[in-house]
Amino acid sequence: MLIVMQKDATPDQVTAVIRAIENRGHTARPIPGGARVSIGVLYNEGAVDASVFHDMPGVKEAIPVTRPYKMVSREFQPHDTIIRVGNVNIGGDHLLIIAGPCAVESEHQVMTIAEHVKKSGGDILRGGAFKPRTSPYAFQGLGEAGLKILAKAREAFGLPIVTEVLDLACYDMVEDYADIVQIGTRNMQNFSLLRRAGESKKPVMLKRGMSATVDEWLMAAEYILTEGNPNVILCERGVRTFVRHSRNTLDLSAIPVVRRESHLPVIVDPSHAAGFRDQVMPLARAAAAVSAHGMMVEVHHAPETAKCDGGQSLLPEQFDQLCRQVRSIFEVSRNAE
Ligand code: PEP
Ligand code: MN
Repeated sequence: MLIVMQKDATPDQVTAVIRAIENRGHTARPIPGGARVSIGVLYNEGAVDASVFHDMPGVKEAIPVTRPYKMVSREFQPHDTIIRVGNVNIGGDHLLIIAGPCAVESEHQVMTIAEHVKKSGGDILRGGAFKPRTSPYAFQGLGEAGLKILAKAREAFGLPIVTEVLDLACYDMVEDYADIVQIGTRNMQNFSLLRRAGESKKPVMLKRGMSATVDEWLMAAEYILTEGNPNVILCERGVRTFVRHSRNTLDLSAIPVVRRESHLPVIVDPSHAAGFRDQVMPLARAAAAVSAHGMMVEVHHAPETAKCDGGQSLLPEQFDQLCRQVRSIFEVSRNAE
């Protein structure tokens, strides 16, 4: 249930509604809006009796929430969430471009790639210092040394950084260095990690689980919001299907669905969806055409030497071309809406 207050409702009237919700054993979550305050009712078991609130002074209406997720839903917040990171707006009319290597390998590697990302107009630098690898024998990342390299690149090029957190043990450390903390596909339903992300002040990029429905994905985001962190960026990165021609299948139809259901920004990762360099550019163009709020792509200056995901990493000149193409496609698709 969402209780929408009248525009001229007084703070005392808002407090009285919050008390009435809490007296029934539920949790009240005030949501400040542009013109009026709304109050979400959380943790109710079964339906909430709307008539109790209808008659309270200052209440405009009490709307039942029909979706299983609440705080992430458009029913709770009709306007888009815009997240400010550095001087980039995520979720507004700007197409966010995040780029960088799959894994941080060395200072020279990150600095070289970051320079290209900056020159081509990328907004944010990516790079994994803690890598979730299928094989325990594969490169696991440089850990804190990798985070330090990312921080140096941020200093040198003025690019905020996004990097993945693998578990609770490294959350504090990753959070200290990162501008955006990434929760990967394999951790989308790691509920203790989601709760920890909810206690953080840093924005979170939540990748869709490789076999997760949109509802499950939004429910995972709900964990983060209910713990108090409203700054979640959703990232579609392809789902596991029967096909062999690509690593995953990019579910572009999820973008309009998420944008309809949720106010959170949603971006696309064509690199992990494709798995092959030649598919990345067409999928990136398609992401801009469906009005995703942005994209995250892997770039490497010497992909044949990459310790991870070289085969799907764009060369710097391809990335440069991608930036120009997707920005003009995004303009067209936003104007068509
Ligand atoms: C990544 O972005 O580095 C990554 C491991 O992606 P995913 O979690 O989507 O596989
Ligand atoms: Mn990768």
